[in-house]
Amino acid sequence: MVTGGSGFLGSHLCEKLLNQGNEVLCVDNLFTGRKSNIHHLLDNKNFEFLRHDITHPLFVEVDEIYNLACPASPIHYQFDPVQTTKTSVIGAINMLGLAKRLKIKILQASTSEVYGDPEVHPQPESYKGSVSTTGIRACYDEGKRCAETLFFDYHRQHNLEIKVMRIFNTYGPRMHPQDGRVVSNFIVQALKGENITIYGNGEQTRSFCYVDDNIEGMIRLMNSRKDFTGPVNIGNPGEFSMLELANLILEITGSSSKLIFLPLPQDDPMQRRPIIDLAKTELNWEPKVNLKSGLIDTVAYFEELLNKD
Ligand code: NAD
Ligand code: UDP
Ligand code: UDP
Repeated sequence: MVTGGSGFLGSHLCEKLLNQGNEVLCVDNLFTGRKSNIHHLLDNKNFEFLRHDITHPLFVEVDEIYNLACPASPIHYQFDPVQTTKTSVIGAINMLGLAKRLKIKILQASTSEVYGDPEVHPQPESYKGSVSTTGIRACYDEGKRCAETLFFDYHRQHNLEIKVMRIFNTYGPRMHPQDGRVVSNFIVQALKGENITIYGNGEQTRSFCYVDDNIEGMIRLMNSRKDFTGPVNIGNPGEFSMLELANLILEITGSSSKLIFLPLPQDDPMQRRPIIDLAKTELNWEPKVNLKSGLIDTVAYFEELLNKD
C-alpha cells in the first residue's frame, strides 16, 4: 500500500513496485495528487486506487505500507495548515494502527525539514534540528517531527517494524507545475519566457535529488535488514545556490528570461545538504543522476505538459 500514491513521488513508487511484480493499493485523497499521474496504471490488474483521507481510519489487508501522504510544497502545505498537521500526525497514527493490527512493516516519508534552518552543515541524521514551532512552515516541519516520534514509539511500545526516511528536495517528471517549488517554478518560467523569481539574494542553497534515485533509495530502505529503522537521509549531496540553479535552467532551456529578486519567505532555510554515509553503508545506495541530466529530463516533461495546455 502506498499512501499519497497519486502524488509526485508516490506515482513513481507505485509504478516501480508494479514493475517489480507487486500488487499495489494506492490510497490518496487527491488533494495535491492528480489522477493523470496514475492514469497509465489504472489498466494494470495489479493496481488499485482508493480515494481516502488518511486522517480517517482505514481497514484494509496489505503486506507493507509506504506512508507518503502529505502535501510537500510550501504553498500546498500552507493552504490548510491545520489539515497538514492532521495528515502527518493523525494520519501516522491511523497508518501505524493499521500496521500494528496486521503486524507488517511501515515506511515513513519524513523530510530534511525536520532539521529546520540548520545550524549544523551539512546535516547528519544525528543533528536534532532548528525548527520554529510557531512559523508558517511549522505545520509541516513539526507535523513530520511528531510523525517520526510516533513511528519510534510504536516501534518501542508495540515492536512494530519501522523505516524512517528523511527525504531531501527531490525533483523530476510529474512535479506539479503550480506547486511553487523552485525547480518547477524556474523551469515553467524559463519555458514561458517569464521572469525567473529568485527569493532573497539567491545565495541560499539546496541539494536536489532526481526522483529515480529517491525511489531506489526508498525501496532499498523498505527491504533493509529487519532491525534497521533509520532515520536515514536520502538526498543528493551536490549543493547549489538558487542563482546557480536558475542559470543552469536558463542554459538547458536556452531561454532569455530575466532574473528578478523578490522577498525571502519567512523561516526559509539558508542552506541544506545531506550527509549520506548511513545510506551508503546500510542500503548500499547513492544517487546516480547529476543535476544537469536530471534537469534535462524534467525540462522535457514540462515542455510536453505545457504543449498540452
Ligand atoms: P505530493 O504533494 O505530490 O504528494 C503527496 C500526496 O499525498 C498527494 O497525492 C496528495 O493528494 C496526498 N495526500 C495529502 N494529504 C492526504 C491525506 N490526508 N490523505 C490521503 N492522501 C493525502 O508530494 P510529493 O513530493 O510526492 O511528496 C511525497 C511525500 O514525500 C510527502 O510525505 C512529503 O512530505 C515527502 N517529501 C517530499 C520531498 C520532495 O522534495 N518532493 C521532500 C521531503 C519529503
Ligand atoms: N486503525 C486503522 N486501521 C486498522 C487499525 C487501526 O485505521 O486496521 C486506526 C484506529 O482507528 C486507531 C489508530 O489506528 O485510531 C491507532 O490504532 P491503535 O491500535 O494503535 O490504537 P487504539 O485503537 O488502541 O486507539
Ligand atoms: N525559491 C525561489 N524562487 C521560487 C521558489 C522558491 O528562489 O520561485 C527558493 C525558496 O525561497 C527556497 C528554495 O528556493 O530558498 C527552495 O524552495 P522550495 O519551495 O523548492 O523548497 P524548500 O524551501 O521547501 O526546500
